[in-house]
Amino acid sequence: MKILEELRKCIPEVKENIELKDYSTFKIGGKAKYFLISKNKKELKSAIKKAIELGINWKILGGGSNTLINSNGFDGLVIVFKNSAVKDDFVPIKLDEENYYVETRGDWPLFFLVNESAENNLSGMEWAVGIPGTVGGAINGNAGAFNQSIGDSIEEVEVLEIKNDFVFEKYFTKNDCDFSYRNSIFKKNNNLIILSAKIKLEKSDTKKIKEKIKENIERRSSKQPKGFSVGSIFKNYIGVVDKEIINQYPEIKTFQEKGSISAGYLIEECGLRGVSVGGATISSEHANFIINNGNASSDDVWALIDLIKKQVKNKFKINLEEEIIIF
Ligand SMILES: Cc1cc2nc3c(=O)[nH]c(=O)nc-3n(C[C@H](O)[C@H](O)[C@H](O)COP(=O)(O)OP(=O)(O)OC[C@H]3O[C@@H](n4cnc5c(N)ncnc54)[C@H](O)[C@@H]3O)c2cc1C
Repeated sequence: MKILEELRKCIPEVKENIELKDYSTFKIGGKAKYFLISKNKKELKSAIKKAIELGINWKILGGGSNTLINSNGFDGLVIVFKNSAVKDDFVPIKLDEENYYVETRGDWPLFFLVNESAENNLSGMEWAVGIPGTVGGAINGNAGAFNQSIGDSIEEVEVLEIKNDFVFEKYFTKNDCDFSYRNSIFKKNNNLIILSAKIKLEKSDTKKIKEKIKENIERRSSKQPKGFSVGSIFKNYIGVVDKEIINQYPEIKTFQEKGSISAGYLIEECGLRGVSVGGATISSEHANFIINNGNASSDDVWALIDLIKKQVKNKFKINLEEEIIIF
């Protein structure tokens, strides 16, 4: 009780025992002992400082669309950094005739950035249509689709760094962010929080941008399974494959020529489409998706992840790596 009182002295909106499944697209997750939807970066900073002072654990959640939350909950403070944005928040700044940048907040929904870029005749974010979550969450995991990712467009990121119990504000250049396939310095270090980012966009024609968006929506809806999920569970595989395995499965060579081996393909070849544990099922439409049928627990999903990793290793001698975050 004392901790809750102390947190509320700092931020009165802190709540207790909140169901985290309501903040995840997977609809899985136990209760957060303490919980806050942070209104802005100032409040986010105060909440983290207070949690450090009180010696309690804390975690940040954006849209919860890439995170498997433990059904046993979290014994600490969960801060949701996700807020709606309005048209006036989107202010393109001209760099030269072709190039613009926009100062995005980390708590913006990603779709706001996609939509407003299009409305302002600015190209660069069309690939992101249909990806749920926040700008902060996307930068953390270097989200991407159709051979593009958010790291490609980043100029600078405003960061909160928590080091030795102190909170610092910093600016990271694109280089500092260390972006690679579904990875970044932020994904490797939970003590780096994305407050805002400068995103580079290019002047284009609204009609062209909207056509691209429509095309991407169609490509996505033909592939993406319906139901509660967190998108692709595993990263596609980039690495060496045993020669014997390639001889046996010539498709692997074709994938390698394109840059990576689809995790979905590997899972499918193991005959795992449609396999269930408890309330969780490996999608029959896209084997790299696990679907919560309504009452899945984090353990059910864990059991499927474990099964997939073992079978893929057995058949292809490949170690699949999770793309999702385990909370
Ligand atoms: C149907 C569906 C389709 C998807 N398709 C794609 C796709 O095509 N491509 C793709 O890349 N992903 C895809 N995803 C996964 C997911 O939507 C993206 O990874 C998204 O960018 C995650 O953002 P989020 O805000 O929901 O992150 P969350 O799940 O809330 O958080 C993910 C991680 O980021 C951290 N985080 C969140 N906000 C911040 C912040 N401000 N600062 C620092 N760390 C932060 C969290 O602590 C956590 O570790 C899909 C998911 C679904 C459900």
